[in-house]
Amino acid sequence: MNIVIFGAPGSGKGTQSEKIIEKYGLHHISTGEVLRDHIARKTPIGQIAHIYISQGQLIPDSLMIKILEEILDNEPKAKDGVILDGFPRTIPQAEALKRFFDRRGLTLNHVIGLEVPEEELVARMIKRGQQTGRADDNLETIKNRLKVYHESTTPLRDYYVAEGIYRPIHGSGSVDEIFASISSAIDCKC
Ligand code: AMP
Repeated sequence: MNIVIFGAPGSGKGTQSEKIIEKYGLHHISTGEVLRDHIARKTPIGQIAHIYISQGQLIPDSLMIKILEEILDNEPKAKDGVILDGFPRTIPQAEALKRFFDRRGLTLNHVIGLEVPEEELVARMIKRGQQTGRADDNLETIKNRLKVYHESTTPLRDYYVAEGIYRPIHGSGSVDEIFASISSAIDCKC
């Protein structure tokens, strides 16, 4: 089984991914974490990624697609099923993912869409920034990230609704309540 977890920054993708992995045994790929790791190791990709992330902008599609495809092809655990967290974020990324899966005979089974009101997203990210020191969780960058999300990422909802695999999830409430809704959507034989 292959899953995309989709939602605005601060919608709980990382938290819910952990629970999905625990229950369904999928391999987790968070493109945000991959990029933060490159930045910490000061790799050439990290140097480029830092410029975009610190401004709340997306890494260019061509680079992001190359990074993801390399991970999918080189991580043996990915063959047993993945949860993609933070990818795709644009229509060209979604199209590239579809081509990549088609070439390898793989299927994307579910796109879990975490839907959370904007005020709650901002409050959650501010809190996360205070707790973890994550550099892009500051008000100015948060505003840019949400703007970019509305412009570039929300069109993916319709793209995956048309593909028949979009599962909308009410993303407010307790972590366990939200996870129960996600599990029902994944397990549903409908
Ligand atoms: P995240 O941890 O998913 O919120 O990602 C943090 C930042 O990494 C984003 O604000 C983007 O700058 C960058 N990023 C992560 N995934 C992608 C992606 N699929 N395409 C472009 N940029 C990305």
